[in-house]
Amino acid sequence: MGLRPLSIRTRLTLWYTGVLLGILIVTSVIGYSLLRWSLVQDLDASLLTVAQVLRDTSVSTAGRAGEAEAETLLRELLGPEFYDKFFQLLDPEGHPEAWSSRRRSKALRLSPVARANAERGLKTFETIRTDGSDDVRLLTMPILRSGRVSQIVQVGMSLDRARSALRRYLDTLVVLIPLGVALAAVGGAIIARSALRPVDEMALAARRITAEDLEQRISLRGTGDELDRLAETLNGMLIRLAAAFTEMRRFAADAAHELRTPLTALKGGIEVSLRAPRSAEEYRGVLVSSLEEVERLICLAEDLLLLSRSTAGPETSRGPVELEPLLLDVSDVGVRLAQGTGVSVRINDVTPVTVRGDALALRRAILNLVENAVKYTPAGGKVELSLMSGEGHASLVVQDTGIGITRADQGRIFEPFVRLDAARARETGGAGLGLAIARAIVLAHGGSLTMESEPGAGSRFTARLPLA
Ligand code: ADP
Repeated sequence: MGLRPLSIRTRLTLWYTGVLLGILIVTSVIGYSLLRWSLVQDLDASLLTVAQVLRDTSVSTAGRAGEAEAETLLRELLGPEFYDKFFQLLDPEGHPEAWSSRRRSKALRLSPVARANAERGLKTFETIRTDGSDDVRLLTMPILRSGRVSQIVQVGMSLDRARSALRRYLDTLVVLIPLGVALAAVGGAIIARSALRPVDEMALAARRITAEDLEQRISLRGTGDELDRLAETLNGMLIRLAAAFTEMRRFAADAAHELRTPLTALKGGIEVSLRAPRSAEEYRGVLVSSLEEVERLICLAEDLLLLSRSTAGPETSRGPVELEPLLLDVSDVGVRLAQGTGVSVRINDVTPVTVRGDALALRRAILNLVENAVKYTPAGGKVELSLMSGEGHASLVVQDTGIGITRADQGRIFEPFVRLDAARARETGGAGLGLAIARAIVLAHGGSLTMESEPGAGSRFTARLPLA
């Protein structure tokens, strides 16, 4: 069934109303029980008063003839207390002995429990259910004369008045609870709506912001509450998104620019060679230089692919990687690269360490650093590699005595397509992706790539990787 999920507003209102209904029901049940208990207490106290008066007056000893006078006497003594009660006197065996009030009730009978209690000199309160509607509260109390039960007095009273009081209380609750719950539901809905209105406004503002318009911000209300914090978080996210988009656009423009240069050279070469008939030797020359450009393009495409893969995180398996053999291998490649340049490449310190990650990617990252070190070190210079292990991490250092990098440029050389003037002048052919790739790989392994450099004295690149 495609039922739409309830809105937070509706759910809040339902919860609020449900909880209130529960509370009202519980308090009403407790209130009802307390009221019933206190009504019965009052009733019992008043029955006891009448019974005590009966015991203490001479009524108990009056004969049948004195009935009317005795009743008048009681009425005078007890006042309104007497009107709704009826009573009878019984002998110790439970036979009606003396006289009883003129208003009698079928409930005036001695139950076995009450009789047993009376024999022991104890009084008994009972609720007697009669066939009619008239339930009765009955007190049976023995009258003791010189330590023996001489008579039993029973005083009863209809429970009607108490019952109707309870019923009225119930009737009131039946009206008040739904009314209270309905009012609370309306109030709750209004409160929930006004509390959530800023969220709706925020959603509307967020919807207006598109990829082209990331400079817009969600306005804060200045209350410093949860919603303001949410808006601040969203704004922070927008700032990061805007920066990422700017970066992406610049990256795409730079990449296009890098691709255009070799393609333009390729096109120029081919066009010139087609302008007039050429000898086979000339065509061959054009093809050879075209192949060079194509190779540069392939290299660039591969670097771009590698950079995007490394930025997205390594897809390949993340197994344990021993860095020592990896460093030896890279150093061999460095020695080969340096052949004929007058630069010496050697390994300084090596500690066997194992990290977790992608061996091929890590090799590529270190190789990029070594390639750069060889490229930017003049003849007679040195490139030194070392591998150390510190607290929980491995440090891989590539140090050269090359041209160095000025402080101003140090911050940007890790960005893609950044080549410093010195590098451009050398025509070394790099697209400025080497350090960006190295850093992306190290970051994807949970590490960091830093550099220190002194122009004219040399540079030192340090990759720190967490130990396996
Ligand atoms: P490239 O493909 O040009 O080598 P990189 O991203 O590897 O691109 O390096 C970016 C720039 O940083 C280089 O063009 C160079 O100017 C500078 N650079 C990198 N490594 C060194 C180094 N060891 N010594 C001096 N400059 C360096």
